[in-house]
Amino acid sequence: MNNVLDGIIIDPGHGGIDSGARGSDLLEKEYNLLISKYMYDRFKELGIPVYITRESDITLNPSDRVNKVLSYFGNNPNVIVISNHLNAGGGDGAEVIYALRNSSKLANDILSSIGNTGQNTRRVYQRRLPSDPTKDYYYMLRDTGRTEPLIIEYGFIDNNDDLKFLKDNYKQLAESVIKAVLEYKNIPYNDPNMVITDTYKVMKGDTLYGIAKKLDTSVDELKKINNLTGNSLSIGQILKVPVLTIEPGETELYQVKKGDTLYSIANKYGISLKELKAINNLKNDNLAIGQLLNVPSGLSLASSYTVSSGDTLYSIAKKFDTTVDKLKDANNLTNNMLSIGQKLIIPLIEDTTYVVKAGDTLYSIAREFNTTVDELKKLNSLVDDVLSVGKILIIK
Ligand SMILES: [Zn+2]
Repeated sequence: MNNVLDGIIIDPGHGGIDSGARGSDLLEKEYNLLISKYMYDRFKELGIPVYITRESDITLNPSDRVNKVLSYFGNNPNVIVISNHLNAGGGDGAEVIYALRNSSKLANDILSSIGNTGQNTRRVYQRRLPSDPTKDYYYMLRDTGRTEPLIIEYGFIDNNDDLKFLKDNYKQLAESVIKAVLEYKNIPYNDPNMVITDTYKVMKGDTLYGIAKKLDTSVDELKKINNLTGNSLSIGQILKVPVLTIEPGETELYQVKKGDTLYSIANKYGISLKELKAINNLKNDNLAIGQLLNVPSGLSLASSYTVSSGDTLYSIAKKFDTTVDKLKDANNLTNNMLSIGQKLIIPLIEDTTYVVKAGDTLYSIAREFNTTVDELKKLNSLVDDVLSVGKILIIK
């Protein structure tokens, strides 16, 4: 197998006068489009060249569809074609069908990734044309040249459990396919809402609310990343705490060059070595020239702030030494309205703010920035010397 990926083609099955399988309300063609559009946007965000055969409810006959597939990147074995479908006819769970010319590896990877979402899985298989068993039965597999096509059936539209699962989890299902495809081609994948965590040891008197407030996060977020069902904590308990949240579109791919180290790349993009390893699921420090890494793009270099009662754009801008315009720009705000709990991206201005990392003390930070502990405490209205990881300190 080779790791070259020249592009992805997403094919929402059916469309127009061909509605596909029928469920109780939506039609198969509608679900296929929903899943496909999500997938298309996500591949784009991940920086992968991608096309979609239809973006609306149009009729595509088999030759239209195949011609489109072969036109985007040519008749190219380094192109993966994902044809999204739902099954019908009694049964439950997902199936992946792959072409006679390909190995079962990607189909198996996709099915097992779908299984990780909680959806039932049935099988991967190939199907031969009865009149010519050397050929694929399905035209999307048979007539798509040398590309690597797959037909994915996410579930049965006439099965109520499958249908409910699909409605609630179609994004997770699409995400699971994206993950399998990228991993198959050795391209780093990251979750659409990836939270990089550090650890916090619960001290006497701590509450989830107090910790959330201290770490600029929310009780819900803390409960989610720690799988907590209640609010009780015990002294000495180790909690995961969010350090950096990377949202869709906040990373881009970086290709490792001669002389690069993980450390130099982390430095270049303003993140820590730990964060760089976390967003790339790296278990060690080895790098290969040409390897692709996820790195933060533009705004994710900034930090985030959760709006609390009484905050205004003006007060937040002042607090972080920025301007209302810059805040609005960074957050795509069209007016000055804020809501409590809203997360804002704070564009950091170099040398005026600093995000506390594990192991930092006020003393070490003061020394690094040529200032004093007292000055730091005054600027940041700190009443004691306790620092929390992820906290933004005003330096100057
Ligand atoms: Zn179908």
